[in-house]
Amino acid sequence: MTVGVLALQGAFREHKNTLEGLGIKTVLVTKRSELETCDALVIPGGESTTIGRLLNVFGLMEPLLARAKAGLPLFGTCAGMVLLARDIAGSEQPCLGLMDVTVRRNAFGRQVDSFEAGLDIPVLGKDLFPGVFIRAPYITRAGPGVEILCRLQDKIVLVREGNKLAAAFHPELTGDHRLHRYFLESVMA
Ligand code: GLN
Repeated sequence: MTVGVLALQGAFREHKNTLEGLGIKTVLVTKRSELETCDALVIPGGESTTIGRLLNVFGLMEPLLARAKAGLPLFGTCAGMVLLARDIAGSEQPCLGLMDVTVRRNAFGRQVDSFEAGLDIPVLGKDLFPGVFIRAPYITRAGPGVEILCRLQDKIVLVREGNKLAAAFHPELTGDHRLHRYFLESVMA
């Protein structure tokens, strides 16, 4: 099994390191041929407008949509979650639109409002998960097929829809690998 990490911009190396720490073969994806070798794809945090634009520039938008429609499991974090959303409140930026959610960008405030919070994520067990929020979005609407896995102060910050997982925070920036393991063992399966 090979898990791809979209490597156009953002925190892709940290996802690669986390996955490799779990014994998973990874490939950094900037080309269509690399995408074809993947059994799943992680879309990292970074800047969603930039990543969305680069998906078009690098000719990856169409092939990625095609793979997703054919069932490729996807895991988006922060900007990656924004890119997976069907609707982005107040924005017309390019996105994949693959999950039935509406997101609000920078919804917890600006860069200076970045923070860490212990998250209660029942599917990961009882211990709180270290949530790192950096100019983070949250979800303002989740469709009927979307499972809400975590809220923080009433805001939806982790969802699953079939074999797609989206987090408003950055699990790859912590030493806690439970969410990546959950993606590999439960969401992909
Ligand atoms: N605010 C960024 C965006 O909307 C996301 C920030 C992040 O990925 N840490 O693209």
